[in-house]
Amino acid sequence: MAYDFYFPEEYYRCMDCDAQYEDDDEIKEDWKCTKCRGEIIVYTNSKSKDRPYVIIRRFAENVSKQDLVILPTHRDSYSVINNRFENGKHHIALKGHGVIKADDDDWFNCIWGRWSGKQEDLD
Ligand SMILES: [Zn+2]
Repeated sequence: MAYDFYFPEEYYRCMDCDAQYEDDDEIKEDWKCTKCRGEIIVYTNSKSKDRPYVIIRRFAENVSKQDLVILPTHRDSYSVINNRFENGKHHIALKGHGVIKADDDDWFNCIWGRWSGKQEDLD
């Protein structure tokens, strides 16, 4: 099963050099900035009343303890208890959810924070 999913609207910005990306074509291979290799911060938007999430996309091997992972079917976040590699899969234990098994190329939406949801606030 794939755990990666996209939000209805997303804006991309590099954590290190502030480069902005209009769409994910250039960066979705590894979720790194093509200019400086910094991590990409994803400003999401949805129609919910809550302030939208800011997330970082981490591949299974980079998910670590204390990360807050959002699962596609739940839209809740779960904190990571541990992550170990066994029999070719990453076994990621989520508090209150149990262990999920992920492949190397699965990435996860990890919560970084929240923001206003107003695109002009990014400029
Ligand atoms: Zn950059």
